[in-house]
Amino acid sequence: MLYIEERKEIVEMGKKMLNSALTIGTWGNISLLLDNKEFFGITPSGMDYNQLTPEDIVIMDLAGNIVDGKKKPSIESPLHYTIYRERKDIKAVVHTHSIYASAMAAARKPIPAAVEDLAQIVGGSVRVAEYYLPGTEELGKAVVDALQDRYGALLANHGVVGIGRSLQEAMTVCEIIEKGARITIAAQGVGGVVELEQEDIDFMRNFFLNSYGQDN
Ligand code: 13P
Ligand code: ZN
Repeated sequence: MLYIEERKEIVEMGKKMLNSALTIGTWGNISLLLDNKEFFGITPSGMDYNQLTPEDIVIMDLAGNIVDGKKKPSIESPLHYTIYRERKDIKAVVHTHSIYASAMAAARKPIPAAVEDLAQIVGGSVRVAEYYLPGTEELGKAVVDALQDRYGALLANHGVVGIGRSLQEAMTVCEIIEKGARITIAAQGVGGVVELEQEDIDFMRNFFLNSYGQDN
């Protein structure tokens, strides 16, 4: 089988997404850009994450053609390949339906950059992409716009997209966005969040990209 290690990584991340309640049921989807940067592996449409095996992962090219795999790919493959075409700085895309972030998305309200982890990993407020139906290329283009200088965005009346230099990073973006949404909603009860100054957000983002952790 082609790309067995990458397929396994996607399957493992699917279980993590389900078990950390970032999605419920078969919704959400995950993809990873492959080393040739022309193909990506993506979860199949509407399958139970706990039952997925590496063979179920579909390999596609950036034009949306299936290269390998027997299953129907995620209906959101246009969202994933549109992001890969436009964002040469990332290698993974995770789309979730987590509850508090979806509440912000349903209200079409951005999540302000009001806490350190969100400022660091997203790079600023989480914008709401213009509404389009699921599975459309228009949705992909709207999300690319919302992702400008950011690693995450909300999809109006739908959910979350996180991108990253690795699958783990894209998943962490989705987790931190969910946390940011919970904080924003909780803070409404004590007067609402105070957004950080852009200068401080930029400082924290820079620190995260260039100095944070053991690998920098
Ligand atoms: P798939 O099961 O086809 O990936 O669709 C789920 C989803 O979240 C659509 O937006
Ligand atoms: Zn969805």
